[in-house]
Amino acid sequence: MEKDCLFCKIANGIIPAQFLYESDKLVVFRDINPEAPVHILIVPKKHIRSLNDIGEQDRDVLGQMFLLAKDMAKKEGVNKSGYRVLSNVEKGGGQVIFHLHLHLIGGWKR
Ligand code: 5GP
Ligand code: ZN
Repeated sequence: MEKDCLFCKIANGIIPAQFLYESDKLVVFRDINPEAPVHILIVPKKHIRSLNDIGEQDRDVLGQMFLLAKDMAKKEGVNKSGYRVLSNVEKGGGQVIFHLHLHLIGGWKR
């Protein structure tokens, strides 16, 4: 856990949040400021700053994050209509919380 990291605190239960999913490695919760009807965040419990900072040791958890994205899309009912999965990297990429996460965004009426 990284001191002063919001997502470390949420993922490790120090700041309470409603999890849609939790395992020993990951948590999923709704974005506080959703950009679409479905906007959830897939967050490893381990502190990794961004995709710039992943390594071989993170292979497993990264695979789990994407498998979970697929499962959560189905649970949220957007798998057929379609959705986006993205990760912002550093300030220029729009990252504001410097703890790796995937955004799963969808549910638009189009
Ligand atoms: P980033 O821009 O770093 O990729 O995305 C961070 C996301 O975290 C933003 O979409 C923002 O709305 C969300 N967020 C920031 N603080 C909180 C919080 O305290 N709770 C939740 N659920 N989401 C948050
Ligand atoms: Zn962190």
